Amino acid sequence: MASQLVFLGAPGSGKGTQASRLVKEKGYKHISTGDLLRAEIAKGSALGKKVEGILKEGRLVDDGVVLELLKANCSIESHSYIFDGFPRNLDQAKALDAQVLGSHQAKAIYFEISTDIVVERIINRRVAKKSGEIYNLLTRPPKTPGICDISGEALIHRDDDKEETVRKRMDIFLAEIKPMLDYYKNKNCLFKLDASESSQAVFEQLEELINL
Ligand code: AMP
Repeated sequence: MASQLVFLGAPGSGKGTQASRLVKEKGYKHISTGDLLRAEIAKGSALGKKVEGILKEGRLVDDGVVLELLKANCSIESHSYIFDGFPRNLDQAKALDAQVLGSHQAKAIYFEISTDIVVERIINRRVAKKSGEIYNLLTRPPKTPGICDISGEALIHRDDDKEETVRKRMDIFLAEIKPMLDYYKNKNCLFKLDASESSQAVFEQLEELINL
């Protein structure tokens, strides 16, 4: 039976990096609402135009809009998913259960990390759009500056990865995370890992949690 994972954690806590490894090594599908929204913006769709300014400023997009986009992009019966960036608040957590997961149990995995580490990580984060690779100028630089090792494409510094926006996104995150943790704890499906460790060490923690 397909197993479902819900990744909870601050922007920059390493959710995306770990998700892409689980995709390669364990056959999960990664569904990131941030990526779906950025794809709409890149396409220039009506939805993309509506949300572009919101993403740039680091605010949250309307719950209903994101939920519809999520539903349109996953088929829970046949695949194991990693939900990354959704839920962002308690209402979204409840909607994910009621409208997407249904009778499928999911493990909620919380990537615990301090704000200071997150800010340093994000302002040094560079991403490759096509390959999905994520680099860090300090801890995982590309072999050639500014170029993706895998695809050769130019790396991007996301607009919302600038320091002022990162701090705003962290404030939003910290205000919303507590009720979500309580929600998943009460359902007995909350698991925590120490996300300040190296990528390899976090992956090992993750493997253990998945196999529980
Ligand atoms: P992320 O790539 O997960 O950091 O998301 C980037 C941006 O997309 C966020 O700062 C929000 O503006 C928007 N976004 C992504 N997921 C959601 C969500 N579940 N609810 C509302 N807005 C979202």
